[in-house]
Amino acid sequence: MDTKLFERIKKINQEINCAAIKARRKTSDIKLIAVTKTVSIEQIQNALNSGLHVFGENRVQEAKDKILKIKNPSIEWHLIGHLQSNKAKLAVELFDVIHSVDSLELAKVLNRYAETNGKVQKVLLQVKLSEETTKHGIKKENIFTLLDLISNMKNLKTLGLMTISPYFENQDMARPYFRELKNIRDTAVGEGFKLQELSMGMTNDFEAAIQEGSTMVRIGTGLFGERK
Ligand SMILES: *Cc1c(COP(=O)(O)O)cnc(C)c1O
Repeated sequence: MDTKLFERIKKINQEINCAAIKARRKTSDIKLIAVTKTVSIEQIQNALNSGLHVFGENRVQEAKDKILKIKNPSIEWHLIGHLQSNKAKLAVELFDVIHSVDSLELAKVLNRYAETNGKVQKVLLQVKLSEETTKHGIKKENIFTLLDLISNMKNLKTLGLMTISPYFENQDMARPYFRELKNIRDTAVGEGFKLQELSMGMTNDFEAAIQEGSTMVRIGTGLFGERK
C-alpha cells in the first residue's frame, strides 16, 4: 500500500465527483483511466490494490512488458497513444480499447488482426481539433467518411471519439475543443452512429472536459506524480 498514491486517487475521484455534480451528471458515467506510461509495475499493482482497474498506456512495447507481467484479467487496458500499423497486431492482442484510430489504413489492419484473433476490437477515433498540439488525429471533415467505412468492418466496434486539447493555464480555455468534440459526436448519433464515449480530459483539464460531457478521463500526473 502506498499512502500517497491512495490519497491522490481519493482526491482525483472526489474532483471527478464534484465536476459531475456541477454538470448534473452521474459520476458512474465517467470512467477514470489511470495513465501508467513510465509508471512501474509495482506502482500499477499499488494502484490496483487501491481500487483502480482501468489503465492507459501510450506505447505498445512498454505496455506489453507490463501487461504480460501483471497478467490480471480484471484489468481493462486502453491504448491512448499513436499506433503504427506495424504494431497493430500486438495492440489487438493486448488492449481492450484502442483510442487512437486515425486512418482508414490503420482501421483496416486492426480489423484484419481482430478477425484472426476472433475478437471484436473496441476503438475510438482520435480527432484532431487544433493544429499545434497533436500531430495525429483525423481532421473534422474526414470523420464521417471514416465512421461510415468502419461501420462495415465486422471486427471493429467504434465506441466514440477521442481528442487531446491544447495546453492552457486556465482549463476553461480548453472547453471549446471539448464542446466541439461533443457536437461532432452528437451529429454522428443523429445520423445513426452508436457513439457513446467521449475520451477527453487529462490531469490539467479533466474538470472542464467533464463539464462538456467527457465519459473517459485520462489521468497520469494527477495520480502518479510528475513523469521523469
Ligand atoms: C500522457 C497522456 C495522458 C495523461 O496526461 P497527464 O497530464 O499526465 O494526466 C492523457 N492522454 C494521453 C493521450 C497521453 O499521452
